[in-house]
Amino acid sequence: MATAGKVIKCKAAVAWEAGKPLSIEEVEVAPPQAMEVRVNILYTSLCHTDVYFWEAKGQTPVFPRIFGHEAGGIIESVGEGVTDVAPGDHVLPVFTGECKECPHCKSAESNMCDLLRINTDRGVMIGDGKSRFSINGKPIYHFVGTSTFSEYTVMHVGCVAKINPEAPLDKVCVLSCGISTGLGASINVAKPPKGSTVAIFGLGAVGLAAAEGARIAGASRIIGVDLNPSRFEEAKKFGCTEFVNPKDHNKPVQEVLADMTNGGVDRSVECTGNINAMIQAFECVHDGWGVAVLVGVPHKDAEFKTHPMNFLNERTLKGTFFGNFKPRTDLPNVVELYMKKELEVEKFITHSVPFSEINKAFDLMAKGEGIRCIIRMEH
Ligand code: NAD
Ligand code: ZN
Repeated sequence: MATAGKVIKCKAAVAWEAGKPLSIEEVEVAPPQAMEVRVNILYTSLCHTDVYFWEAKGQTPVFPRIFGHEAGGIIESVGEGVTDVAPGDHVLPVFTGECKECPHCKSAESNMCDLLRINTDRGVMIGDGKSRFSINGKPIYHFVGTSTFSEYTVMHVGCVAKINPEAPLDKVCVLSCGISTGLGASINVAKPPKGSTVAIFGLGAVGLAAAEGARIAGASRIIGVDLNPSRFEEAKKFGCTEFVNPKDHNKPVQEVLADMTNGGVDRSVECTGNINAMIQAFECVHDGWGVAVLVGVPHKDAEFKTHPMNFLNERTLKGTFFGNFKPRTDLPNVVELYMKKELEVEKFITHSVPFSEINKAFDLMAKGEGIRCIIRMEH
């Protein structure tokens, strides 16, 4: 490889300040160090988490920074000690990693890797505490170990999942965050039995993927709950069979759902980040067997309040991170679900823009339009 071991100059969308439009700059990307890989990003998409940290309201501001974590690309070169992937391999970057050696990675039950678990405040590589991006010698910081809004990026090898090279990267790139989170929350955590009834709170990308997961698992009734009725029509494509807008009722949505389901839903998956919806999602499950799964990221001061009797009556409350998928071990199999046509990805992709128009993707998200916008890195 002509570029291996050398600095690469390429285009990246740099966020200089919180909330200001990104600007496309020429950056220098240093070669990967030990246990790192350099990846040529071909497609990336915008997720709510990027926007949240770009706005940096109530978050540690780390600027200048290169955002982006939902993407697909090809390994350009690898650092010392990397044996799992090689130049030319197709990969999905993941915001949380899998070192394969810590107690979490060795446990079949956890995906919360000790070494590479998401760290939103860190803007440097864990190996040497430095950034691999610079402009005129000044560092530009990383974001969640991925920084995919750049033609080339450097990641820890534990944060890339090697996937089937036949999989179209312009489609499967959306599997590297939100879609897998919602899908996994249903199939790995809520595990709805065949013929069961599932309530999904929040019909954004994550909730729609959770509905899709419930459909794949064989749920027969999937009730979408959202305060925004414009979500309902779209949600039908993801398996939702019924809808409830809490604003249309003058009693708590828990009661509305209990009335609709003879006492409560079998499973519920919360994908809003709203604390009231989290409590409702728990209290609406059937006593005796109901399981509620929290996915949304709550406000930092939120507190979950419910009567302990709700637990004594044999309801279960769970939470999940990245849908309990182990990034390197499980993500290639999620891609295979798409390849076998068991999982549709196209319907999540509603917009596409060239890299030079990346700020349009931010505008669409601000307006709540569409689900996912693909950003094409090619010129
Ligand atoms: P989104 O903003 O696109 O969708 C959220 C939906 O919830 C919206 O349609 C909104 O109208 C609805 N909503 C808000 N409050 C509600 C309420 N009280 N009752 C009913 N509906 C309500 O967001 P998204 O991208 O789909 O993400 C959903 C959540 O998942 C976010 O909190 C995000 O941070 C979180 N998330 C978690 C993980 C994880 O690993 N646990 C990973 C990715 C995203
Ligand atoms: Zn680990």
